[in-house]
Amino acid sequence: MTSKEKVIFEINGADAKKLKRFERQHKNCPMGMEGGRFSYTFTPTGLGLAITVKCTCGQQLLLGDFLEGPDKEYDEVNLRPLTEDDIKNKQFEDAALLILNLEDRRFFKMAMGLEQIFEIVYAYAVGVARYGDPRISKTILYKVSFDDAHNLIMNYTGTDEENLAEFFEYFKRAVLEEMDKYHSDNERLRKKCLSKQDE
Ligand SMILES: [Zn+2]
Repeated sequence: MTSKEKVIFEINGADAKKLKRFERQHKNCPMGMEGGRFSYTFTPTGLGLAITVKCTCGQQLLLGDFLEGPDKEYDEVNLRPLTEDDIKNKQFEDAALLILNLEDRRFFKMAMGLEQIFEIVYAYAVGVARYGDPRISKTILYKVSFDDAHNLIMNYTGTDEENLAEFFEYFKRAVLEEMDKYHSDNERLRKKCLSKQDE
């Protein structure tokens, strides 16, 4: 052994094959600043090594034994080079998913370190709406709105639990509407939007 320790990350086996296919599929994507097209992130986690390969178009290939396991097939359609609209839609869906995750009480407690509260879910969603995709704004039921006759309506007047239900019911319906507009194929998000709390 030399005095200097080395850390080496490798991509091999089924992952190497997937990476080859990914590189082939993205060979026409623009070159990045440093001349390459791909960046690689290796993240050791308690569950294994997570490897992310990111193309300049914004598409990402996830490898490693961290998420779905090495047996998962290469998904040609979902891993296609991204257009600008694809990227915007993905940002919208990612943001929607972030908010939707908070519906799960256990996840909420894990992420926030306290019991699920309407005010925090609401504040979080409004924060995401302010800095994220503009469509998120349309999916939030705001605390106050105006009816057709310009009367002020208070939208959250129930218990914390009722308000949370109100928020997520509106949110899911609105997200689905937005997804339908561009025929989103994000089944995971669609399923989440169609599910009831605690299912
Ligand atoms: Zn690409």
